[in-house]
Amino acid sequence: MPIYVYTCRACGARAEVFARRRDATPPEACARCGTAGLAQAPAPFALHRTLRSTLDNLDPIYHKRIDDAIARTPEADPMRLLAKLTPFSAAEDPGDPITF
Ligand SMILES: [Zn+2]
Repeated sequence: MPIYVYTCRACGARAEVFARRRDATPPEACARCGTAGLAQAPAPFALHRTLRSTLDNLDPIYHKRIDDAIARTPEADPMRLLAKLTPFSAAEDPGDPITF
């Protein structure tokens, strides 16, 4: 059953209405301050959160922790692939030279 959320323009109070149909009738007035004319707000489940938006809303302290954790991995070393290479002078069979 869909939930329709209304917010009061005066005090910002939220009112939730359960309705079977799309044309749900909004509350007549705000339950907190009595102001008439509530505005419909997006329902919480209607917001689509992607991984990117979740990361954007993440507390900045976690960004620092993630950066620190990535910096401690072996893959973060830019020289890791160069360390695995064998120089041509040390190769057993350097092979035929490449002609262009
Ligand atoms: Zn109100």
